[in-house]
Amino acid sequence: PAGPCYRGRFAPSPTGLLHAGSLVAALASWLDARAHGGRWLVRLEDVDAPRCVPGAGEAILAQLAACGLQPDEPVEWQSRRGAAYEAALQRLVARGWAYPCACTRQAIEAAWAARGVPRQRHAALPYPGTCRPERGGLRGQAPRAWRLHVGRVIADLGLPVPLAWHDRRLGAQAQDVEAAVGDFVLKRADGLWAYQLAVVVDDAAQGISDVVRGEDLADNTPRQIVLQRALGVPTPRYLHTPLVRGANGEKLSKQNGAQPLDLRDPLAALAAAAAVLGLPPPAGALHAALAGWTAAWRTRWAPGAAAGDGGRSLQSGP
Ligand code: GLU
Repeated sequence: PAGPCYRGRFAPSPTGLLHAGSLVAALASWLDARAHGGRWLVRLEDVDAPRCVPGAGEAILAQLAACGLQPDEPVEWQSRRGAAYEAALQRLVARGWAYPCACTRQAIEAAWAARGVPRQRHAALPYPGTCRPERGGLRGQAPRAWRLHVGRVIADLGLPVPLAWHDRRLGAQAQDVEAAVGDFVLKRADGLWAYQLAVVVDDAAQGISDVVRGEDLADNTPRQIVLQRALGVPTPRYLHTPLVRGANGEKLSKQNGAQPLDLRDPLAALAAAAAVLGLPPPAGALHAALAGWTAAWRTRWAPGAAAGDGGRSLQSGP
């Protein structure tokens, strides 16, 4: 969608400050919104409260502002959205598409071991379905987490297996969600809302037409599409941006010690992010550079251009 229908967002988790990798996703989502004449929102995904750092949300907003990236609407915080997540879960429960699960990690491992699967393969396997209602449900145990009954959603809605989806940079994608991830968690055993449910409910509530985010999140997309279908909300367009790798070749992340952006020189930080996106070096000061990149992005990512080169221009570097 172009023009006023375009609504994009940047959705950082305030578990630390923005680093060079997260700025790539922020800049790309901002540019895409600007190039489409759309609106750009910021949502702070602070559902995983124990991992959030006090003050990090405000600090991220200050980092974005220093880079000239200002949201067009008030910032949303997921910690205020519990009632909406609960309502979504109850809609799924009412359809028989979500069920409570009593399994601990050890119980899940024991279930795979009982089927003769060697221990070292357990981590890569989906939930074995032990607490699915048709297999006896909780059998008197206390509920811990809530899971989506992926197989039932797919069968009831007639969703294709594998589920195919399109990424504006990566092209055609597909995943058999039931085989690859199985009945994923909607509400965690510690009572916290899972990312998958929160992101789908909020993208729908905020009318997001275009998700632009880092490629590390690409494999969450099919799960989110299944949830969108189950909740009867639209599926946005997706664009996953290249990852920034550290000296050791690993993706930059807070977990592996990425340094926060240096706000003394926002233009240098933006120039590095733009280079990852294949955009030219900055011309002029901060706002002139942003305007130049927006213009460059528009020619690369106008609907025709995106289809024409399959997004390769975004990967090719400056
Ligand atoms: N909050 C997620 C993260 O920081 C991103 C969510 C999204 O863009 O869908 O990894």
